[in-house]
Amino acid sequence: MTKEIRTVEFVVLPATKVKAKKMFQIAGACRYVWNHFREKNLADYQAFKKGKAERPQTSYFSLGVEFTKLRHETDWMLELPANPVKHTLKHFADALKEAMAGKKGFPKPRSRKRTAPSFTIPGSAGVRIRKVNEKYSSLLIPLVGWVTLTRRGGNPWESGTPKQAVLRYDGHRWRAFVSSEIEVEEKMGDGEVLGVDMNARQIATSDGHFYFLPDLKKKEARRKRYQRRMARQVKGSNRRKDTKKKLAKASREIANVRKNWVHQTTKEISGKCGTMVVEDLKVKNMTASAKGTVENPGKNVKQKAGLNRAMLDTAFGGIRRNLEYKCGRLIEVNPAYTSQTCSRCGYAEKENRKTQARFQCVSCGFVSNADTNAAINIRRLGMAQLHGEERSGSRQTPANREIDTRLHDG
Ligand SMILES: [Zn+2]
Repeated sequence: MTKEIRTVEFVVLPATKVKAKKMFQIAGACRYVWNHFREKNLADYQAFKKGKAERPQTSYFSLGVEFTKLRHETDWMLELPANPVKHTLKHFADALKEAMAGKKGFPKPRSRKRTAPSFTIPGSAGVRIRKVNEKYSSLLIPLVGWVTLTRRGGNPWESGTPKQAVLRYDGHRWRAFVSSEIEVEEKMGDGEVLGVDMNARQIATSDGHFYFLPDLKKKEARRKRYQRRMARQVKGSNRRKDTKKKLAKASREIANVRKNWVHQTTKEISGKCGTMVVEDLKVKNMTASAKGTVENPGKNVKQKAGLNRAMLDTAFGGIRRNLEYKCGRLIEVNPAYTSQTCSRCGYAEKENRKTQARFQCVSCGFVSNADTNAAINIRRLGMAQLHGEERSGSRQTPANREIDTRLHDG
């Protein structure tokens, strides 16, 4: 058994106006602290970047001393729980460190209007959750009290130890993302090996199945319409506020459809196999921009690539992450030539790919769906990688462990 962290999303029902108001106040204090420390560190950061000063202190500890001072100078903050507000500092310290290292820019200010109100109950404060019944749980927010959490299907990890809760307001309601530490059986990368080909329309697996991406055209069009309408409307007007609400709702719907699809699809795929072979998306993105499409090689490359990248990033990033923990093992392979190579004879030629959908080998005559053919090639590359690992002895697979025992028994 090993320990893993799993995060579950709940809808929060704060029940009373007083509690809801307090939650916004905590989020406001977090924003205040973020901006306060941002301003305080900006000059030092700029001086350091210009080589005019030593690298400033960026540790959580050194910022914490300043935080305690700030909290006692700002009387309204004393009425709010210290831990969630202080946790902002941890986020800020991380962001600052990255900026100092030159990995990212200086942390951006958090705006009352544009930044979603949120705060974190860190594990150090002790995250307390009680089960009420099958449908409801409750979460203790320090100095606010118990709030009710609800989620379709209840809490799947109620036996776990809650380690952290992030509360975020999405413009409509509060949501809680509760991370719990759970005991899981050690995942075995044995069983079936499945190759997966992902593209903008569908996912194909090497066993000949297809998973079509949900059709979001209507919903996307509606969202676009609201976006355009909002751009025309007068800032601050009631009509604009109304459109803004509708736009937020449309965006939520799109996100939900996509999220549900990802969960359902990955559940189905991972149920069939222990090891999953996928394309390395970073490489795939690069090749997508360089090659164009089969129908239009080199044409509309920029436009298509932009579209593909957006699709890959949103849908497939989620799929990959989900498969990673649902499957025993995830192998990434270089997707180069997987769409042009014959999965039967190995002949690689651009001519093999007759259309976007159809594969026909010019050498051996093998005919297949182009994506299924690619998925089989991806699987084969993954198998080669797996066997390479076995040979070099870098990984003890369950399969050869079994063989070992049999030998001893004999
Ligand atoms: Zn062939």
